[in-house]
Formats: sequence, C-alpha cells, structure tokens
Amino acid sequence: MLEIKNMSCGYGAFEAVGDLSLTLKPGSITGLLGANGAGKSSTLMCVAGHVAMKSGDMLFEGESISKLSPEQRVKRGIAISPEGRRLFKDLTVEDNLRVGGLIQPASHFAKDRDYVLSMFPRLGERLTSLAGNLSGGEQQMLAIGRALMTRPKLIMIDELSLGLMPKVIDLCYRALKQLQQDGMTILLVEQNTDRVLSVADDVCVLESGRTVWQGKADDARNDPTLAAAYLGLH
Ligand code: ATP
Repeated sequence: MLEIKNMSCGYGAFEAVGDLSLTLKPGSITGLLGANGAGKSSTLMCVAGHVAMKSGDMLFEGESISKLSPEQRVKRGIAISPEGRRLFKDLTVEDNLRVGGLIQPASHFAKDRDYVLSMFPRLGERLTSLAGNLSGGEQQMLAIGRALMTRPKLIMIDELSLGLMPKVIDLCYRALKQLQQDGMTILLVEQNTDRVLSVADDVCVLESGRTVWQGKADDARNDPTLAAAYLGLH
C-alpha cells in the first residue's frame, strides 16, 4: 500500500527523520512510536507532502508520490488528521466536513457525512456548532471525520489519544477498528503505547529521527528489552 524507502526529511538544513524505511500492508494498522521530538509527526507530514523530503522515495500503490503536491496525494487516497488537529475553528462542524469533502463530487457529501456521523454520533448533535467551541474529544472526532470525507485508502492520525478522556479514547479506538474493517489502512502516531499495541499489526519505533525497532506488534509486546528501553512498559 505505502512503501517508504530510505526517506529523510526535515526543516531547512535540519534533518528530523533519517533513512526511514517502512512498508504498510493494505488494511493494516501500523503504530509509529517514540518520545517527543523523535520525528513521528514529521514522518506523517512528509508522507502527506507538507514537509520536504530530502532523500529517498515513497511509493503508494506501487507508484512514486514523492513529487506530488499535498492535494494530489489526497486525491490518490492519502489523508491526515494532523497534530493539533488544525480545524477551521470559525466554521461549523458540518462546514469542516464539507471542506474535507471538497475534493469529492458534491453528490458524495451527504453519504460521506452520514458515514462520519455513524462513526461519531456525537458530531451529529453538534453539526451547527463552531469547531472552536467543541470539547477536545469532539475536535478529535471532527479532525478524523474531516480526513474521512476525502474517502481515503490510507488515513494517518497524529496523537489520537492526547488529552482525551478514557471514554473518548475508547470510542476513537473502536472507530479505528471499524475503519480497518471497512478496508482502510491506518498509520497511527501515539504516545500511549499500550493502546497502540492493543490494535496495531505492525510497529515502528523512532528515536531522534532514526528507526530503533520495527516489526510485529505482538513481538514488540513480548520483547522485554524494547519494552523497557523505548515503550515505557515493564
Ligand atoms: P512530538 O510528539 O513532540 O510532536 P514527534 O516525534 O512527532 O514529537 P516531530 O514533531 O516530528 O517529532 O519533531 C522532530 C524534530 O523536528 C524535533 O527535533 C522538532 O524540534 C523538529 N521540528 C518539528 N517541526 C519543526 C518545524 N516546523 N521547524 C523546525 N523544526 C521542527
């Protein structure tokens, strides 16, 4: 589905991620783990086309996307729910969804909105509220919902559970499983290691922009060295 080959990316002369190779299998959930500043958000933003790739290549469904604009990547089926959510705070919930759906024909809007609302019914009660007035959990649902409006094949979600109440985290993780059942491939950035390992098929651990561990989530759980050194599990 997505093949990242020896990718390096960063800001100006600064390299945030170096020589990352990562393959996402179709329909899988991959967790991208690591401490603050490890390069997780930069990786997602580079795949989405918002952070400059310095070297390497990225193939999506077998074709290089490295030179495509962010918009072209969305059209190919790559969506991101970014760090900080970046909602249009002065627009209503419904209009945020509408903006997400702009790359689709207008005739898709009602069906796609209803798909999002079936996943996050709470948003249905808030359709006319301004995004800036939503709770943190509602904003997270809306950020994911807006990404879903593009009809993605791959959805990348940054910091899914950050700052959310356990009940809302449960809801978001149930939604993830639903998306996977609906055929989507998911790349998930999280600091909540236990949660990621409970849903992920594969895991990649970054430290200072370098891959320090990569493999099956089951193996990550059972690797005591890894668990103690990088995952905060004991
Ligand atoms: P966090 O969870 O704190 O967001 P992260 O693993 O997602 O951490 P990144 O946000 O990708 O890490 O940051 C990787 C490195 O790139 C850090 O050293 C960070 O300071 C730097 N960085 C991130 N964004 C920028 C930017 N816009 N300009 C310059 N440097 C940046």
